Amino acid sequence: MIYFDKVTKEYRDGTPALEDVTLSISPKEFVSIVGHSGAGKTTLLKMLLAEEKPTDGSVFFESVDIHTLPKSALHHYRRKIGTVFQDFRLIPNKTAYENIAFAMEAAGRPDDEIESDVPYILELVNLGDKAHHFPSQLSGGEQQRVAIGRAIINQPDVIVADEPTGNLDPVNTYEIIEIMKKINELGTTVILTTHNKGVVDAMGKRVITMDKGRVIRDDQNGHYIL
Ligand code: ADP
Repeated sequence: MIYFDKVTKEYRDGTPALEDVTLSISPKEFVSIVGHSGAGKTTLLKMLLAEEKPTDGSVFFESVDIHTLPKSALHHYRRKIGTVFQDFRLIPNKTAYENIAFAMEAAGRPDDEIESDVPYILELVNLGDKAHHFPSQLSGGEQQRVAIGRAIINQPDVIVADEPTGNLDPVNTYEIIEIMKKINELGTTVILTTHNKGVVDAMGKRVITMDKGRVIRDDQNGHYIL
């Protein structure tokens, strides 16, 4: 479903970020991408989100070279991918419920669907009792669970999470990973980057290790080895 074909990325200022990366990710896989800071993990995700263009090579999603899509189609493509970031990126003056509902409104979904889907997703991320709390009234782990709810509310094919547990303590980290696993089991492809050895080793899923812009390991049932 996702295929990176010999992707090289050099930023405009000449910084090399990816070097001849070839990899494929199948539907419903759970993939962790690990590597030192600066290894190219975020750049890889940006390529997939079509936020940056490859200097060389191509990125395919369902056999379509996403970097050749016109703007209108790109908008549609991005809807297939839900995103989660280390710093949550919630709207501060909206409640947990409203943050998630807003993503549905932006996608043009009707009110009756919003009213039925948002409570379901809040339960899925174990926040049924915090629906009307604002981000400032939630812990980091709870805020990240709202962000995950928002990322999955429009039923994307893929969730991309860039260091989703980077700001969290071990208990909250564990809970976020359990939710990611649950989402994956429900049929969504999950791609996450992490520095957290414990997370990766506990997962027992595919691990892609990057170093200096290259993929240096790609193991099913992998461990964090650096
Ligand atoms: P990671 O996510 O593994 O920490 P990144 O993909 O963020 O790695 O960065 C890979 C390399 O690209 C690093 O050397 C980084 O400094 C550089 N880089 C990242 N973003 C930019 C940018 N917008 N402009 C120039 N260089 C960048």
